[in-house]
Amino acid sequence: MNIAIIGAGPAGLAAAWELSKRGENITLYETDKSETGGLAGAVPVNDTYIDRFYHHIFTSDTDVLDLISEMGLSKDMLWVEPKNGIFLNGTLYPFTSPMDLITLPEVSLIGRFRMGLAVLMAKNVKDYRSMEGVNARDWLIQKTGKDAYEKIWRNLLYSKFDKDADSVSGVWIWNKFKLRGSTRQNISKEMLGYLSGSFFRLYEILANRLKDAGAKIVYEPVTRINGDGGKVVVESARGATVYDKALFTAAPALLCGLCDFPAEYKTKAVYTKYKSNICMTIITKQQVSDYYWITVAQRGAPFVLFIEHTNLIKDADYKDKHIIYLSRYVDETDPFFQASDDEIKGVFFEYLGMLFPGFRREAVMDSYINRAVYAQPVVGLNYSKHILPFETPVKRLYLASMAQIYPEDRGQNYAVNMGRKIAKIMSEEKL
Ligand SMILES: Cc1cc2nc3c(=O)[nH]c(=O)nc-3n(C[C@H](O)[C@H](O)[C@H](O)COP(=O)(O)OP(=O)(O)OC[C@H]3O[C@@H](n4cnc5c(N)ncnc54)[C@H](O)[C@@H]3O)c2cc1C
Repeated sequence: MNIAIIGAGPAGLAAAWELSKRGENITLYETDKSETGGLAGAVPVNDTYIDRFYHHIFTSDTDVLDLISEMGLSKDMLWVEPKNGIFLNGTLYPFTSPMDLITLPEVSLIGRFRMGLAVLMAKNVKDYRSMEGVNARDWLIQKTGKDAYEKIWRNLLYSKFDKDADSVSGVWIWNKFKLRGSTRQNISKEMLGYLSGSFFRLYEILANRLKDAGAKIVYEPVTRINGDGGKVVVESARGATVYDKALFTAAPALLCGLCDFPAEYKTKAVYTKYKSNICMTIITKQQVSDYYWITVAQRGAPFVLFIEHTNLIKDADYKDKHIIYLSRYVDETDPFFQASDDEIKGVFFEYLGMLFPGFRREAVMDSYINRAVYAQPVVGLNYSKHILPFETPVKRLYLASMAQIYPEDRGQNYAVNMGRKIAKIMSEEKL
């Protein structure tokens, strides 16, 4: 069969690889000029690459680990115990282990105990459906108490989902607790994984293996998709090509812009709202903190995450450079998302200097802003009822997007898992 795959991110590449192994002829379309990896793509620094958006994986991420192994990269996986922190009321506290949670002075003793218990118990929940109708706020108050919610979780939810925080489902936060509780080797030790040279290497090798197997990669955006008598016609600047089947792997709203779908499907497709992300990368001569991941749980903070990547990964190829990411989630229409790079840098640098008075601007060698419009689906109440099926109204055109991952949240592992799953469905469906 001739199959078009639109999007060379983790899901599209994983699907293409599975279909190619099953003997199908693949053409992969990607908007980004000569770049693979989607949101997990990277930029060159010295002789290596660094992520455009910070990435790590967990020990439980078996699908992406399988793919890493299949591409011969397991030897380059680095597993490190992170040091995490949280800024609360202008003070930086350690926030790595259940013990850190239990000793956090900002929250009452009972609140701390209940938070620790909630993280530990989350992995024992077998049926999440009872939480689907409860929002994250009420779930957190019920499990950890009002004091802990007000002091910690409220700010965390707002920092990630902004004005949509109160519509986020309890399932989303339960799943985060579960992930953190179940990826620990023992109760106090969590390991995070990173691929030396960045995860982009995985996707680049995969793209090359696909080409070696006869797949074509077209670095042009797809501009239109139509059904035609059971075939799928895909258009790009290179013209229109007829395929037996096609798979779209970016946001449902983007697919709606390419196809003449019935209004009812369009309404369902845009139901899931996405938050956009602004991520600033700073390359500096200075080590700013000794933490990997710091959550900035303070109202009014312009960024919600401070990630000092080089405190997790020490790579000789970075030379003496320290790599820091500052991240903020907003709506695409928010004036801050629309602001110029220089304006955003100005605001971020100023706040960074307030958080870390020792931060030296003159040590900064380079800094840049990356933006992703479709960065994080907002998992709302009773989400299972709103998930789109893989099949679309156009016969043999399929959709596999981040918004269809549930009850887990977005992540490379689930994108690879979904890519493999849809590949099996597509190859087994008779023409
Ligand atoms: C700030 C941030 C931090 C993250 N941190 C982590 C982390 O720590 N660990 C982790 O595992 N995951 C993390 N993720 C999530 C991870 O990056 C995603 O889950 C994963 O990249 C999703 O893969 P995908 O293939 O489904 O989608 P995408 O990566 O979005 O790929 C879709 C591709 O489709 C292409 N495309 C869109 N429209 C068209 C068109 N018309 N024609 C051709 N091509 C098109 C896009 O250019 C893109 O390359 C993070 C994401 C963000 C934004």
